[in-house]
Amino acid sequence: MRLHKQISVILTNKCTANCDICCYSCSTKENEKLSFSEIENILNTVTQNNSISHLNISGGEPFLYLDDLYKIVEMAHKKKLTISCVTNGFWCNDHDKTYEIIHKLKQLGLDVLYTSYDMYHSKYVTADKLKLLFDVCKECHLDVQLNLMQLEQYSTFTSELFHQLGYSLYGVKIYYIPICNAGAAKDNIEPDAFHKKNVNELQCVFTNTMNVMSNGNVYPCCSNYVREIPFLCAGNIHEEDFETIYNRLKMHWPFRLVMEYGLQKLAAVIREVKPDAFREEYTDDCELCKEIWSNKENIDILYSFYKK
Ligand code: SF4
Ligand code: SF4
Repeated sequence: MRLHKQISVILTNKCTANCDICCYSCSTKENEKLSFSEIENILNTVTQNNSISHLNISGGEPFLYLDDLYKIVEMAHKKKLTISCVTNGFWCNDHDKTYEIIHKLKQLGLDVLYTSYDMYHSKYVTADKLKLLFDVCKECHLDVQLNLMQLEQYSTFTSELFHQLGYSLYGVKIYYIPICNAGAAKDNIEPDAFHKKNVNELQCVFTNTMNVMSNGNVYPCCSNYVREIPFLCAGNIHEEDFETIYNRLKMHWPFRLVMEYGLQKLAAVIREVKPDAFREEYTDDCELCKEIWSNKENIDILYSFYKK
């Protein structure tokens, strides 16, 4: 079975924004947070046998806890991990303060900064802040990536944003990412507005990344849907030692089935018993995965298949 090469920690689900499309339903009202010592324990475990080589720090908004962020980056760098971090850029108010923060993170070992943007983020973070963030990252020679979150329908928002950001976009890696039908997006966006793919084309695009959520739940993948797929959860670090959960992940039967057989085979096994188990279209592979693992009958069918 493919092993995890990367770990993502959701430091907090607290955010400075309340985006209508937030896949983890993060907001100003949330308060979950992993402590520094919990993250230290996680990194000590995953670096013991050198299988994990990259740490991603995400949220919520990790820059709300800047002192923790500095300490985590410093510790991960000492453990020879490459490190990425996500921010919405709310803190980019003036050049000198932005420079001070980015410069320090770069010195401590941060390798790349990710930010996401779209018309929903723009209600909370102005394009001027992104512009400043990109300019300062380049000044400090820190790689920066802009994830443009997209619904099915073309929107003029992106071309207007490019116009506003102008030369500041040079050297910034840009990715178009479909908005997931999960979390706040599921509640706030019309179902027809999401991207759609035929069910027979969906494959797990597992990226070798395991995930520790801000509530302590540990998942074998970093899908935006994991909070809604409790069956994929391998344990919670507030209830058990992380090392125990980490070792269990390697034998976690639902995840092993997805990795060894793929979503299409699992859907076919379920259809043998329930021909109409699935819709014709889903937003993405993880939405189909959620449908598979959220139904007790499906789980029983797949467990019998696994036992064979
Ligand atoms: S999408 Fe990002 S910026 Fe928006 S609420 Fe969620 S974590 Fe915060
Ligand atoms: S398809 Fe399932 S196992 Fe694969 S990344 Fe998505 S949620 Fe995880």
